[in-house]
Amino acid sequence: MKEYGIETLTELESEPATIALSVILPVYNEAPNLEQLNLKLTDALERLARSYEVIYIDDGSTDRSLAMLREIATRDSRVRVISLRRNYGQTAAMSAGIDHARGQILIPMDADLQNDPADIGRLLEKLEEGYDVVSGWRKDRKDTWLTRQLPSRLANRLASRLSGVELHDYGCSLKAYRRDALTGVKLYGEMHRFIPIYAGWAGARVTEIPVTHHPRAAGKSKYGLSRTIKVIFDLITIKFLSSYLTKPLYVFGTAGLVCLAISLFSFAFSLYYRFVEGVHLNRMPLATLSMIMFAMGVQFIFMGLLAEMVVRTYHESQDKPTYLIRERINIDEDRT
Ligand code: UDP
Ligand code: MG
Repeated sequence: MKEYGIETLTELESEPATIALSVILPVYNEAPNLEQLNLKLTDALERLARSYEVIYIDDGSTDRSLAMLREIATRDSRVRVISLRRNYGQTAAMSAGIDHARGQILIPMDADLQNDPADIGRLLEKLEEGYDVVSGWRKDRKDTWLTRQLPSRLANRLASRLSGVELHDYGCSLKAYRRDALTGVKLYGEMHRFIPIYAGWAGARVTEIPVTHHPRAAGKSKYGLSRTIKVIFDLITIKFLSSYLTKPLYVFGTAGLVCLAISLFSFAFSLYYRFVEGVHLNRMPLATLSMIMFAMGVQFIFMGLLAEMVVRTYHESQDKPTYLIRERINIDEDRT
């Protein structure tokens, strides 16, 4: 069993779950979309006949978004608004929403009408089949192919391979989570798209269904190709965290050993050239390579040891266990 999901341990304490659904929408300069969005959303949610709240997070919009949200919230008390002090980005905005959500089930989605509120019901049905996370899959995606769809496809494949949680479309914001699948998930960078991975590692049952995707009708997309690079770095972090959060020395140490091996070979070769072929060392890159690799190898190993200390501090200072429990039978909750 791999030691997974260390990020997913602290409790979601801020708000107790008192209602059925929380829909969470980060909003950044979406004024032209908000009225119609809220209409469609209200319509879709009322059909479900469950208690719900809609949380809009204004992510430092510079247009009329906040004013419009205020207005919507005065008309409808099921609408709640969080206004961030500045533009923190979609992931942070989504975190703010998750932290304030009171629903048993949490449903993030985009506020630009590219996701369709009408799909929420289907996500819920799927969830009820016994899943903890249902991810939307924009099977027929309406974004430019070269700069958006292609990189996303590659990233999705890579993420599936690296994480072992196989989905076609991590990037689709529209997903549904049972509350406890999100417990304590901390989001950095562009990580909101990888919540299903964290959840999956923590033992959640993850699946996906195709959802409708519309072209952006109004307002502008906030992203371009540059996001792909961030996503790739996030993937590396994910891979690192998944395999090594409790044993960093395994990664650093391996890198160190590889360097030391290269160093040793170069050293042997340079000795051979020096004494058998009679080439002077200053005429060969091998000797230098040998020294550099030696230094790097040693460095890596010490860095690994440092990382081990950091990891221990991380777990022990916060009392984070290195495992997660799904259920206890005949054991008191408190006696952990
Ligand atoms: N968004 C946000 N903060 C940002 C950028 C985007 O809250 O800094 C919101 C945006 O308003 C939208 C969602 O995140 O509701 C997705 O953004 P966008 O539609 O621009 O992304 P795309 O669909 O083009 O991937
Ligand atoms: Mg969009």
